[in-house]
Parts: sequence; C-alpha cells; structure tokens
Amino acid sequence: MSKKHVVVIGSGFAGLSAATHLADKGNCTVTLLEKNDSPGGRARKFEHQGFVFDMGPSWYWMPDVFESYFANFGKKPSDYYDLIRLDPSYAVIYGEHDTLDIPADLNEFRGMLESIEPGAAANLDKFLAQAKYKYEVGIHDLVHRPSRSLFEFASPRLLLDMIRMDIFQSMSKHVRSYFSHDKIVRLMEFPVLFLGETANNIPALYSLMNYADIALGTWYPKKGMHEIIKGMVALAEEKGVQFKYNSEVEKIEVVNGKAQQLKLRSGETIQADIIVAGADYHHVDKHLLDPAYSNYTEDYWDKRVMAPSSLLFYLGVNKRLKNLRHHNLFFDEPLGPHADAIYTNPRWPEKPLFYASVPSITDPTVAPEGMENLFLLIPLAPDLEDTEEMREKYFHMILDRLEKITGQEIRSHIVYKRSYAHNDFKSDYHAFKGNAYGLANTLLQTAILKPSLKSKKVSNLYYTGQLTVPGPGVPPSLISGHVVAKEVMKENNL
Ligand SMILES: Cc1cc2nc3c(=O)[nH]c(=O)nc-3n(C[C@H](O)[C@H](O)[C@H](O)COP(=O)(O)OP(=O)(O)OC[C@H]3O[C@@H](n4cnc5c(N)ncnc54)[C@H](O)[C@@H]3O)c2cc1C
Repeated sequence: MSKKHVVVIGSGFAGLSAATHLADKGNCTVTLLEKNDSPGGRARKFEHQGFVFDMGPSWYWMPDVFESYFANFGKKPSDYYDLIRLDPSYAVIYGEHDTLDIPADLNEFRGMLESIEPGAAANLDKFLAQAKYKYEVGIHDLVHRPSRSLFEFASPRLLLDMIRMDIFQSMSKHVRSYFSHDKIVRLMEFPVLFLGETANNIPALYSLMNYADIALGTWYPKKGMHEIIKGMVALAEEKGVQFKYNSEVEKIEVVNGKAQQLKLRSGETIQADIIVAGADYHHVDKHLLDPAYSNYTEDYWDKRVMAPSSLLFYLGVNKRLKNLRHHNLFFDEPLGPHADAIYTNPRWPEKPLFYASVPSITDPTVAPEGMENLFLLIPLAPDLEDTEEMREKYFHMILDRLEKITGQEIRSHIVYKRSYAHNDFKSDYHAFKGNAYGLANTLLQTAILKPSLKSKKVSNLYYTGQLTVPGPGVPPSLISGHVVAKEVMKENNL
C-alpha cells in the first residue's frame, strides 16, 4: 500500500516543526507548501548591501526548547548554528541617563535589584523558585498537551499543580506581591508582553517567562535568528520533506467532510490524505474553506484578543552607535496609555514605548564594517489604518527620542530604510487584522479555550502555529508543530 501524503501549509516554525516530525516518525510522505519565495514565515530575513535583517523574532529565549527540538532527531542546535549568551541580556531605558543593564549573572542581577529596593534580592529568590516550578510544569508538560478535551487535565496531581501555578491570579498582582519599586515592577512585567497582553490580563502562571529571562538567559545565534530556520529546513530536507515555494494555497477542496486536494494560486492542484495548516488559522478557516467547513464564525474571530501588530523599521546606519546594547527596551514613557491604545481603545498611541535592536553590536556579519544594523519595533493595535504618513510620523517621533536619549545624531546617518506594518503582515502572511504575534495568551484563550488544533468539520484537517495551542512565540510554535504531528500520527496510524 502506498504511503499517505501529508501536506503542510506554511514554512514558519510551526509548519517546519510539524513537517519534520511527520517525515521522521510517520509512515507518510510530506510536502510543505509556502506562498513566499523563502522559508521562515515571520522569521524570514532579507539583505541589502551588506546589511542582513532578521524580519521578525530577535530574542532567543528558552534554549532548552530548541535543544529538545533538535534532540528529537538526534541533533543539537550547534550542528546548525552557534549560540552566544548576551551579557548584558538587554538594557531597559527609563529616560536620559537612566538605563539599567540587565546582567546575565544571577548574583549580579540580585545585587542590582537589592540596590534599587532593599529586600528585593531575597524576594527574587522566592519569586524565581516558584517561577522555576511553573516553567518545569508549564514548558515540560502542559504546553505539550493537544488541549482538545478537559479530560487531558483531569488528574489530581495536575489540578494541584494548576492551583500552585496561580492560573487565576494576574501577573500584575503577582509581581506586586513581591516587589514595589516601579522600575523593578516594570522590569518583571516586561516578559509577558511577549504573550500578547499586559500583565493585568495575563495569568501569573506566566512568571515562568521571568525564569526563562533571568535564569535561562538571552541568547543569539551568530549570523542572526534566521540561522535557526536554515537549520530546520536542512533537517527537514534530510528527513525527506519536499518544499514547494511560491505555492500559495487558494482553496482546500472538501468532499463529504474530507479534504481531498489543495488548489494553488498557480492553478496547480495537489492531492492530500491529511492537511496540517500552519498558515494563520483565521485565513485557513475563513478563506481557504467553504463556509460550511469553517470551524468558527466571523463573530468568534472578531471577539478573540489578538496579540499586537507592530510598526517595524529596518535601518542601515553608516556609523557605529553609542549608548545602545544588542536589545534595548525604551520604557521612557508610561505603559498604561500605550496599552490602552493597543487593547482597550484601539488607536495609534500618543507616546509609544518601543524596542531597538542592534545585532551588529554582537555580530559583525550583519552590517558592513564600521556600520550598524538597527531594528526598531513599536507594538500597535491590530487592524489600524496603516498609511505611509503614519509610518513616517512615528518614525520621526521615535527617532527624536532615540537620538535625544542616546545623545547622538542617527537620522542623517541612515543609508537604508524599510518600514513594515499591518498591510505587510496581511499581504505577506495573510495575517488576521495584520497581527504580528498571533493570539494573546489570556486566561480565556489558554489550552482548550484556544482555537482547536483539529477541525471539527473536516476529518483530515489539523492546525498548528501561533493562533492555536500552545500560543505565540518561537518556542511555543516549535512545540505546536510537534504536538500536532503526534496527534496526526496517532489518529491516522502513521
Ligand atoms: C516583528 C516580530 C517580532 C517577534 N519577536 C519574537 C521574539 O523576539 N522571540 C520570539 O520567540 N517570538 C517572536 N515573535 C513571534 C514569532 O516570530 C512567531 O510566534 C512565530 O514565528 C510564528 O510562527 P508560525 O509558524 O506560527 O507562523 P508564521 O511564521 O507566520 O508561518 C506561517 C507561514 O504560512 C505561510 N502562508 C500563509 N498563507 C499561506 C497560503 N495560503 N499558502 C501557503 N502558505 C501560506 C506564510 O507565508 C508563512 O510562511 C515575533 C514576531 C514578529 C512578527
């Protein structure tokens, strides 16, 4: 009997992970269809005259998740890329001459907190002991569950674990029960912003992110984050995954509740026994399927709390920059009004916080000699009107602050500039409302409350990626691909 053919849509972290796991352990052939001309999805890269820009993720956190990923195939990250631990991990800039360099060393970090708030070092020890426990249960167990039924979580030990992990308390309250100085509170609340909501609306379970930040560290793959994608593609090819780029799926054709074939924009059709959709869930659910086979209504999607979109600038600067680190968080304005503009009353924010990354400080290969690779990111509400005028307005607004706070002229030294926002997320990835990071990890969008990884109406259609379990971010997307691959193999005897 011929092997079953699995088609994976999308070559982001989740699609690559699903395809490689299936090709490795499943008794099947695997084809991966990608609409763009290169792999990686939100983690693509582009080059311009010696500047090499990572287009999306820049923080390499949870190195153990990447180790586990490659270990599944008897490999190590170092078989594909070289990691450097950053020290300082990052800088938090509260204003002019008011910067905290976050040391990689835990003792130095304790000392820094103690100098800001007496007693904070001892409180940090308690906070981190609990965060470590959450990390171990959360990342090594909970996120690996497909979350298709409550019964998966119905064990007395797990229920006890969940209570101990404060899933019903907000991260904001949790942090404030250990620390009171505003600088420390903001620092400890920062990691959950990766989960697409503010600390008020993220369960305290996610202090596991602080453990990842403080104890496990911030790393950087030499030559950039896209090296991870290159390694994953090499491994997928070794396992026999067939890649087809410039292959945008336009329609999934379903007969009697079973997907039969995929129609590509080029007119080509591809037969499939099983489909794993790693493209944005909403796009597949609402645009690739006939309405009768859609899992969720437009109203359901509209009510989801999406993680933010972003306005990004990729800049080439023809001189070296001072007073900046590899990662820089500009907290020189209060978070409240910016968060309100993202989540409560969606609008362009009056005084946005922003993030600046200068990977050329660590890595000379990403910019020409004597120059700097500068990446700027402003988190924004999804679905805003995205115009050239607005992009320019915000470019100048944050460049003014960047120049003033770091005490140098930058604008006149910019020799390359590209902006990227909602319209690009939509046209490049079919991103729902132009989101950057998928669905927020609020309590009501956790585990079984997320869009399901299996279609309810099409028996051989599965989903993976940052809009389903376990959630947004590179490590969760890697895990998402693994979780769906296991479900596909189990249910289809592959
Ligand atoms: C600006 C930015 C910064 C980020 N920073 C970080 C960070 O520092 N650290 C971190 O851990 N995470 C970060 N993230 C989040 C992380 O990048 C994502 O969670 C992750 O890359 C999502 O992977 P994915 O596979 O779910 O989706 P994607 O990467 O979007 O992959 C989906 C793929 O499907 C393809 N596709 C879509 N429609 C079709 C179709 N019809 N036919 C064929 N193919 C299709 C798309 O082209 C794309 O390649 C960041 C994201 C962004 C955007």
